[in-house]
Amino acid sequence: MPVIEVARQAGACYGVERALKMALEASDSASQPVHTLGPLIHNPLVVADLEERGVRPAADPAEAGSGTLVIRAHGVTPQVIADAEARGLAVVDATCPYVKRVHRAAARLAAEGYQVLVVGESGHPEVQGILGHAGEGARVVSDEDDLAGLALCDKVGVVVQTTQTAERLAHVVAAVVGRVGELRVINTICEATSERQAAAAELAERSDVMIVIGGRESGNTRRLAQICRERCMNTHHIEDAAELDAAWFDEAERIGITAGASTPAEQIERTVAQIERVVAA
Ligand code: SF4
Repeated sequence: MPVIEVARQAGACYGVERALKMALEASDSASQPVHTLGPLIHNPLVVADLEERGVRPAADPAEAGSGTLVIRAHGVTPQVIADAEARGLAVVDATCPYVKRVHRAAARLAAEGYQVLVVGESGHPEVQGILGHAGEGARVVSDEDDLAGLALCDKVGVVVQTTQTAERLAHVVAAVVGRVGELRVINTICEATSERQAAAAELAERSDVMIVIGGRESGNTRRLAQICRERCMNTHHIEDAAELDAAWFDEAERIGITAGASTPAEQIERTVAQIERVVAA
């Protein structure tokens, strides 16, 4: 029987658990409809479970109509909250406190006259929310190549999408530093992400197969899969235990498991149980 080991840090982070709890509390206490602004987390199973409890995603405040609107852990621009409140919606702001920290850092840099660069994935909801706090001249940079055609001011301030790697931040900073008179960097990477990445990397080094559980749309899960793949060629990204294939485990002596920040503990437990059944068959 192969050894099955779960990474020492894996699965739902503080911000996701908090947002989930706040959405469930809102649905328990509300007499009117409860919507989340977009899917609460990048995890189709959790979103389906919430829908069964009457908590549905809405694309924008207008679609939510009335009742309660839960802002997810990714956060939003101040304009979105103002729009929801102007429509009479009761806003439950489940923005992760670590994302709020990025909002405050970006706003402070903008107020102090820095052009804000947000190191992150262009178009990602968290990044859009950060941009809303970062002033007029703010720009998103995903890597050094994005800087090539970008006009920079003399004073540049850098913040980072919480799920980015320190390595990517370092590359962008190295590419900016020679082009500006003053550079201020506020490292807003969330520890939950770096801890999960380090634990996944360590486990992938020692494993014959790595299973990464989490939504396919989840940026942090995709990055975990990438980190594992660089160390263990036999890495598989799944959303649900039902996707497991017995052939993946042929001749494996150690099977490693990790999960993205939007994967609840039950999904990890279900996957471990399913792997145990598959390898015992
Ligand atoms: S990964 Fe970090 S910043 Fe993002 S929701 Fe989780 S705790 Fe918050």
